[in-house]
Amino acid sequence: MMKPVLVVGAGPVGLTMAAELARYRVPVRIIDRAHGRTDQSRALAVWPRTLELLRAAGCADAFAATGLHARAVSIHSDGRTLGRVTFGEIASPFNYLLMIAQSETERLLEAHLRSLGGKVERDAELTAFVDTGDGVSCTITHAGNGREDMQAAWLIGCDGAHSSVRHRLGLAFEGDVLPTAFIIADVHVAGLRVPPDEPAIFWHPDGAVMFFPISPGRHRIIADIASVPSCDPTLQQVQAIVARRGPGGVTLSDPVWLSHFGVNERKVADYRVGRVFLAGDAAHVHSPAGGQGMNTGMQDAFNLAWKLALVMRQEARAGLLDSYGPERGPVARQVLTGSSHMTRIVLLKNRPARLLRGLVARVLFRIPAIRRTIANALSGVMIRYRDSPLNTGGAVGPRGARAGQRLDPGCGVGTGDLPRFTLVARDDAAARAMIARHATLLKPDICPPPDGGGKGMGNGIWLVRPDGYVAAVARGGDWPVIDAALTRMAAGTLAAGTRPPEQP
Ligand SMILES: Cc1cc2nc3c(=O)[nH]c(=O)nc-3n(C[C@H](O)[C@H](O)[C@H](O)COP(=O)(O)OP(=O)(O)OC[C@H]3O[C@@H](n4cnc5c(N)ncnc54)[C@H](O)[C@@H]3O)c2cc1C
Repeated sequence: MMKPVLVVGAGPVGLTMAAELARYRVPVRIIDRAHGRTDQSRALAVWPRTLELLRAAGCADAFAATGLHARAVSIHSDGRTLGRVTFGEIASPFNYLLMIAQSETERLLEAHLRSLGGKVERDAELTAFVDTGDGVSCTITHAGNGREDMQAAWLIGCDGAHSSVRHRLGLAFEGDVLPTAFIIADVHVAGLRVPPDEPAIFWHPDGAVMFFPISPGRHRIIADIASVPSCDPTLQQVQAIVARRGPGGVTLSDPVWLSHFGVNERKVADYRVGRVFLAGDAAHVHSPAGGQGMNTGMQDAFNLAWKLALVMRQEARAGLLDSYGPERGPVARQVLTGSSHMTRIVLLKNRPARLLRGLVARVLFRIPAIRRTIANALSGVMIRYRDSPLNTGGAVGPRGARAGQRLDPGCGVGTGDLPRFTLVARDDAAARAMIARHATLLKPDICPPPDGGGKGMGNGIWLVRPDGYVAAVARGGDWPVIDAALTRMAAGTLAAGTRPPEQP
């Protein structure tokens, strides 16, 4: 019998990973040392790119039906609105920001996993493992129920920022701690005069106060403070900060969560050692500014799952897995840099710097193209594996998607219970022959280019991966390029020297 993949940690990333493997009919176990799911709201933001991937996985509808659909985010200072970024023009079928408590995200992912025949084993902690070359010998300690030794084909550490898998691998988690802290409060808010489902950020000489809607009438409030306090804030302390920095007339009540946190900005250099992978907070942590942490982690899982499924199903060689870190590492690096800049802008205290910040914000937010770029960047649709060792070919046509870019031709890319590539091309005999030749890797249906192959996309052929990124681009009729890309994919042979080694 095939050894299972062992996923350690049933946070949002581990649950995504396990559900994707289960969808692809790969044997998988998922364990968590905790007795139950988190009841804290924690990560609230689910961005369009994550929703697109959840749609391919088959569970986006439940998310969309559960969360609030935020149509914009606004920034205010001195009683004026400095800028408002709307999400309506995000180039995605999901042109909104989904606000949903992490506890709900985990509930929905767990239900999705159950619907695929999987289940989380709780009170089960990974306490040791050894990579034996052809598998991983794992020791699981079940609370009150003894020790279990099991053999896993691959081990995936989705065990959070303090990852014991990362520690046992001896991987450095390099980076810094920001010299500040934040208080956090999930409370009922009355008197806030911004649209009820819109995040709003208020800048003040003392610092910022931010309101994020969670459910009707209930908001997450975050405000920066000088240093990590010795205890959690009281409702009165949060109310005092809101009264001083906020828009006035806002009353808080009924707190369900009052807490504080410091910000670490860290990342591993390697996402894989032998048969062990890291994903999510185990591999990268950063400021919650921009709400990217959980999204980046879930997208790590989407990236690794189809590759691991192809390898486990013996439809591709293990070399394919070497592309995981080189693709996801640079994305985490970019997220780290972006969230760090956002946090430092929010934290500006000295007067000239704050005046300049206000001036620049007013000017920039007036320009529609800049507002659009900010929205698209936050949404995740601009993520691109520019230097991926899986990429083949360049661009076709002025607007044609390039290798490594996301392509959403709207014909079920990545859906179904097998990890399959999609051909986006004119449906002709040559395309049909390619599908027959690579029947184990390609979906049986051909997808027409979004504009029918006209001058926008160009007369080309696009090979789209199960996670929606373009693996290969060729000019119309140049089928040997696509054939070679698919052959390389199955052989797990990566293009060498496409990018310098990733720095932590
Ligand atoms: C206050 C706050 C606000 C945030 N806001 C946002 C936001 O708006 N948007 C966003 O994208 N992100 C946000 N984040 C970040 C987000 O919460 C994390 O990125 C996310 O939880 C990471 O998910 P994960 O699955 O990698 O790890 P975790 O959620 O930490 O899950 C790890 C799991 O592993 C289990 N585990 C650990 N060790 C073992 C072991 N040895 N054996 C078995 N199980 C183990 C743990 O019990 C845990 O359940 C926020 C975080 C905080 C703290």
